[in-house]
Amino acid sequence: MAAYHIFKPDDAKAFADKHSGLFGEHSQLTAAEFGDGNLNLVFRVQNDKGSSLIVKQALPYARCVGESWPLTTDRARIEAEVLEQHGRVCPQHTVEVLHFDAELSAILLEDLKAYQILRHELIAGKQFKHLAGQMATYMAQSLFYSSDFYLSGPAKKAAVSRLLNPELCLITEDLFFSDPYCNHERNNIHSAILADAQKLWHDQALQAEVASLKADFLSKPQALLHGDLHSGSIFIKEDNCKVIDAEFGFYGPIGFDLGSLIGNLLLNYVACPGRFAQPQQAAEQEQYLLQQVSTLWQEFSQQFSQLMASECRDAALQNSHYQQQFLQQVLADSLGYAGCELIRRTVGLAHVADLDSISNASLRAQAEQRALALGRQLILQRTGLANISQVLNLVQYLQ
Ligand code: ADP
Ligand code: MG
Repeated sequence: MAAYHIFKPDDAKAFADKHSGLFGEHSQLTAAEFGDGNLNLVFRVQNDKGSSLIVKQALPYARCVGESWPLTTDRARIEAEVLEQHGRVCPQHTVEVLHFDAELSAILLEDLKAYQILRHELIAGKQFKHLAGQMATYMAQSLFYSSDFYLSGPAKKAAVSRLLNPELCLITEDLFFSDPYCNHERNNIHSAILADAQKLWHDQALQAEVASLKADFLSKPQALLHGDLHSGSIFIKEDNCKVIDAEFGFYGPIGFDLGSLIGNLLLNYVACPGRFAQPQQAAEQEQYLLQQVSTLWQEFSQQFSQLMASECRDAALQNSHYQQQFLQQVLADSLGYAGCELIRRTVGLAHVADLDSISNASLRAQAEQRALALGRQLILQRTGLANISQVLNLVQYLQ
């Protein structure tokens, strides 16, 4: 096995060629680094016939910052295993891992070049009917089959300890649950909403609820999460979508993945009036996004219920009252984490283009204020919202 070294395009080419039969002996391979991500190197390797593969390599530091932010390359192992586990139960919606090399921290992946990044598509006002249904299936399958409903105690604990992922979890613990609620130097706050951000730093009631959500993130290993399920981690085309970038995966609360995606749909939602010149167009996009949030929860809860009813292998957890309570708690957790996502993407380190690309500064500030207000209410009201239509009423009321 080759010792770790940072890949140049030629290394990516050799790696892809060695571990895949796709290219053939006489292929003229080219490779280029093209990743727009924050942490890793991503190369596309292709031959003269148009076949291509992706090589993703973890650097010993975060790509966007450089060597001053060291980061374990072990994250590539986590990413490969999460994608492999999720791919085993839901191959249709998980990017395929063709090879993983632990020494090089490099993963060979299928190239999703026929797909587009969901965030860009939503910002452009595109609508995909299948998005919520397919992502609900991805989450129901990947989360159920890694949970205590399905795995034996010893098998689950072995997986939990293999996939602890402390360094990447710490990033989430800080950026998601701590920074936005204090005057942290990492925060990125547009001056027009500084007063709104400052209110968060003194909001004791909100901070108590965020503490509870953080405590669950730290100590509720319900299932193997993707861990970073925002709309930049979802690739989409007319009839399918697939998830990439699982390096934040670990065993955590099921509502975290659901909440991340719901939060990202709602970030796009609050941005609609700032992005579309025609109110009618904004209203149509808002309607679409609300429908997707609703379908996401309804489909997820229906599919997860069905799996609990038919495939639960633990005698005690087969209790149907318990299963109903469990799902109710997952809904509350999801809303809480969605709220945290809305807030941290507005005032924290890592923003989203949905808000940042609004060119009119006053419309952008209004959208950001809606994101903060909605995030706050979702966190505070999460246990009192009994079903998804109550959630949608709240969302519309605050818009
Ligand atoms: P990071 O972990 O550094 O954020 P990502 O996995 O998000 O890296 O990938 C960064 C970018 O590389 C993606 O936004 C996308 O443009 C491209 N990319 C990553 N994986 C694939 C893939 N399997 N197919 C096509 N493009 C990909
Ligand atoms: Mg990433």
